[in-house]
Amino acid sequence: MIPYKHEPFTDFTQQENKDAYLAGLKLVDSYLGQDYPLIIGGERITTEDKIVSYNPAKKTEVIGRVSKASRDLAEKAMQIADETFKTWKKVDPAIRADVLFKAAAIIRRRKFEFSALLTKEAGKPWNEADADTAEAIDFLEYYGRQMLRIKGGQPVESRPGEYNRYDYIPLGVGIVISPWNFPFAIMAGTTVAAVVTGNTVLLKPASTTPVVAYKFIEVLEEAGLPAGVVNYVPGSGAEVGDYLVDHPRTRFISFTGSRDVGLRINQRASVLNDGQIWIKRVIAEMGGKDTIVVDKEADLELAAQSIVKSAFGFSGQKCSACSRAVIVEDVYEQVVNRVEELTKALTVGDPADPSNFMATVIDQAAFNKVTEYIEIGKGEGRLVAGGTADDSVGYFVHPTVFADVAPSARIMKEEIFGPVVAIAKAKDFDEAIEIANDTEYGLTGAVITSNRFNQEKAREEFHVGNLYFNRGCTGAIVGYQPFGGFNMSGTDSKAGGPDYLQLHMQAKTTSEML
Ligand code: GLU
Repeated sequence: MIPYKHEPFTDFTQQENKDAYLAGLKLVDSYLGQDYPLIIGGERITTEDKIVSYNPAKKTEVIGRVSKASRDLAEKAMQIADETFKTWKKVDPAIRADVLFKAAAIIRRRKFEFSALLTKEAGKPWNEADADTAEAIDFLEYYGRQMLRIKGGQPVESRPGEYNRYDYIPLGVGIVISPWNFPFAIMAGTTVAAVVTGNTVLLKPASTTPVVAYKFIEVLEEAGLPAGVVNYVPGSGAEVGDYLVDHPRTRFISFTGSRDVGLRINQRASVLNDGQIWIKRVIAEMGGKDTIVVDKEADLELAAQSIVKSAFGFSGQKCSACSRAVIVEDVYEQVVNRVEELTKALTVGDPADPSNFMATVIDQAAFNKVTEYIEIGKGEGRLVAGGTADDSVGYFVHPTVFADVAPSARIMKEEIFGPVVAIAKAKDFDEAIEIANDTEYGLTGAVITSNRFNQEKAREEFHVGNLYFNRGCTGAIVGYQPFGGFNMSGTDSKAGGPDYLQLHMQAKTTSEML
């Protein structure tokens, strides 16, 4: 087996790669607006009720119309997943891993098509879409290999005359509720982590990005995944999500999304329902209010570049996004001025055009929420760049910077999930870390400093699941920077890390007298 190495990002200065992306866009255009059924036990089921997926950059363009699961169909899917678990759990883990490797190979061959679909369905600029597809491939390659590593269990001691073993066995049926911001990578990663460990899955993708999830299920089928192991059940949270979370046969829930929905799922999952004989497990990746701290001894150009890239990549719609910058007063003006310059130079427009750095937010609700926060920001700080938005064609919000914001301001505390960054001044490095930690979240953070002492202080004091030095705070790579946060950011389940698969398993000790 070739050792794991992350999928390289595409160099779009190469004409052949540009051409391949354009061909991908053309291919996706050729199937826009189609209908997609549910997939339950391999069977295609079409319902009257549909979720319509639109291009956020061109509101009238329909990406696809996806059948919507009802409670009855969710129940049917649960019964099939429960039944299929009896056989899938016994399949050799190496064979399960092979499905992932094969799926990775198929996606690699169709890489530009998948990325182009992300551009259309999620409004991802080329490089962001390319990174999302690369990460999906990485999850498949990495979790496949991790399964091979842990399939024999872990070593334990045995006394003379005794043979002890410690093995991992699957849990049962998992409900995977995936987000729209990494509609390929996180959807695929959370699904296959559950599958490769021997569980069966009901996948409820985000309602704004269900088509890419459908295409992924087709890839899994082509890669040899048996019917019923993953069931595709898009639907509303209130109707299908709650029903499945509450179901007595649900063994675990793997959720990525907002803090409020995560807490709601966690609470519902804790209730014992009739016929239920286990404590449900919840794996949750929730929000963030992530900070870049700039020390006075620092590469200030790097600081400004890191803030801008981490704040505005994919319109700030990452739970890892830099939504706060805290800058030590000695270098404050300089960094803020450079952030202003860089932000004003960003190009905003149709993500299908590679000259645009940034595009839209995902939908009308996001547009309304982000623009409301911009209004709040106008009362809480000095508007340095952006502050404007236009939803006539698509949901465009311009990259927005507020400076001189008090640490207690709402835009310093609440997750906005859009292209808005709040900047605060700190009197020294210690105060900067204090401000950075003053949040209920704890996902990512970055420190730009050339002072080794302060770096070590941050390593100890800056309470985030992913801490970066002298770089931005987005873009964790599977297998290199396992990703997940503290406190209200979730259960610190480190996606793309060496202990992630075990969250989908339970350990069994067997002890034999020889
Ligand atoms: N893993 C991504 C990153 O490091 C963020 C994932 C998310 O936003 O949910 O940027």
